[in-house]
Amino acid sequence: MKLYNTLTKQLEPFTPQDPARTTVYTCGPTVYDYPHIGNWFTFIRYDILVRTLMANQQTVAWVMNITDVGHLVSDADDGEDKLEKGAKREGKTAWDIAKFYGDYFVNAIDRLNFVKPTHLPRATDHIQEQIELIRLLESKGFTYQIDDGIYFDTSKFPTYGDFAQLDLDELQAGARVEHNPQKHQPTDFALWKFSPSDAQRDMEWDSPWGKGFPGWHLECSAMSMKYLGETLDIHSGGIDHIPVHHTNEIAQSEAATGKPFAHYWMHTNHILINDEKIAKSTGNGITLEDIEGKGFSMEDLRLHVLESHYRSQSRFSWDSLAAAHNRLLDYKAMAALRWQPIAALHDHATFEFSDVAGELLAILSEDLHTEAALHYLSSISKQTLAVLVSQEEVPAFEKMLQDIDALLGTKLAEVDDINEEQKALIAQRETARAHQDWDAADEVRKKLETYKIGLRDTPDGVIWFPL
Ligand SMILES: [Zn+2]
Repeated sequence: MKLYNTLTKQLEPFTPQDPARTTVYTCGPTVYDYPHIGNWFTFIRYDILVRTLMANQQTVAWVMNITDVGHLVSDADDGEDKLEKGAKREGKTAWDIAKFYGDYFVNAIDRLNFVKPTHLPRATDHIQEQIELIRLLESKGFTYQIDDGIYFDTSKFPTYGDFAQLDLDELQAGARVEHNPQKHQPTDFALWKFSPSDAQRDMEWDSPWGKGFPGWHLECSAMSMKYLGETLDIHSGGIDHIPVHHTNEIAQSEAATGKPFAHYWMHTNHILINDEKIAKSTGNGITLEDIEGKGFSMEDLRLHVLESHYRSQSRFSWDSLAAAHNRLLDYKAMAALRWQPIAALHDHATFEFSDVAGELLAILSEDLHTEAALHYLSSISKQTLAVLVSQEEVPAFEKMLQDIDALLGTKLAEVDDINEEQKALIAQRETARAHQDWDAADEVRKKLETYKIGLRDTPDGVIWFPL
C-alpha cells in the first residue's frame, strides 16, 4: 500500500510499526453544532482509509476524538470557547451542547455506515491525562505561565514549524497584531487556560496551576497516546489543521516523549461550495438533514465524496449529488441481478466477478484513488447489466458485492429481492403484453414504479431494478 505523506511530501510505501496492529488517529469534530458537509467529506475519506487497511489484511485500531471543550473560535488561543458559544446560541449549558452534538455525531457515523472506530474519546473525559501531559512538559522545561494560562514555549522546540514549513520570521514580523502581548513568541500556544476571574465557566476543572480548561491541541496528543501509544502509524485530518493544530500536536507530543509523534500524516483538501471554502459564517454549512430533506440518502452522499480524490479540491453541489444518486442506482440495478439469474450467458464480460474486489483494492491501495475505483466499478456495472448474471455465477457475484461493500461502504449486498405481490404484477404485465394489451401492461408498470421498481425487457425476459 502507498500513501502520500505530508511529512515527507511524497508518495511512500506504507509500513506499520507492528504488522499485527495499525494505528490510525483522526482529528474529529468539535461538537458545538451539526457537522457540515465539509466535515463529512473528511471523515468519509478516512473511513475509506481504514477499510483499505483492513482489506490489506491489517488489524486497525482507529481513534477519532470528539472535541467538547477548549476549541476557541480563532483556532488559536483567542476568542470564545466554541462550546460556550453553542450554549449561548441555544440557551443551554456547554455540557448540554457537548452531550447533544457528541451523541449526534456518534449516531451519524452509524447512519453513514462507517467502520466502527475502536474509540471515540471525548476531551472532557480525559482531563486528567491532559493535566499529566502538561506536568510532563513542565518538568522538561517546555512551559511558562502568563496571566491567562500555561503556554508551550515553541522556541524550546527547534524544529517547530518544519512540518508546515512555517516562516517563523514572518510570523514574528506579524506579531504586532498578536492579541496576547505576554506570549513569548506568537507561535506559543495554550496548554491550560485559566477560568476568567469575573465569570463562571460551565466547564472548568481544578489543576496544579488553577481552575481552568485544557487547550484544544492538547487533547489529541493526550488521547492518541493513551489509546494508540506514543508514536502513531497514521495521523489524519483536514488540510487546514497543518499550520496550527497539527504543528502544535507535533511540538508538544515530541517534546514530551522524544519520539516521532506519527510516521505518516494524511490531509484531506478543502471542499468548495459555489467555489467558496465552506464556513458556517457564510451560510453554506449543509447538514445531513438538509441532504435527506432533498430526498437523497447517506449512500448518495458517500458516493459523491468518493467521486473525487482526497487530495484534490473537491466541490459539493446538488447536481453532483444527483449524479452520484444515479450512479448508485446503476450499481443497485447490477446488485439486483443476483435475484434474477439467467440460465446461461449469451455474451461474456471482459472480467471475472472473482477478480473485481482485488482490482478495486489495488486501485485504493495506491493513495486511495476512490475516483478511479468508482470509474472501474461503473465499467463493471455497465458490462454486467449488459450481459446479465448466470445461475452458475451467483455465488461469485454475491461474494463480489460483499467485497465491494467492505471496501467502499456501499450497501449493494443489501439490495433485496422483490416480494411475491410485485412478482405477480410482473407476470401480469407479461400476460398483458402477450395479448398485446399495451394499456394494461403500462398500468402495471406504473404501479410497480410506485413501489420504486423499474423494468426493462431483454431477450432473456423482463429484468427489474430499484428506482
Ligand atoms: Zn487533533
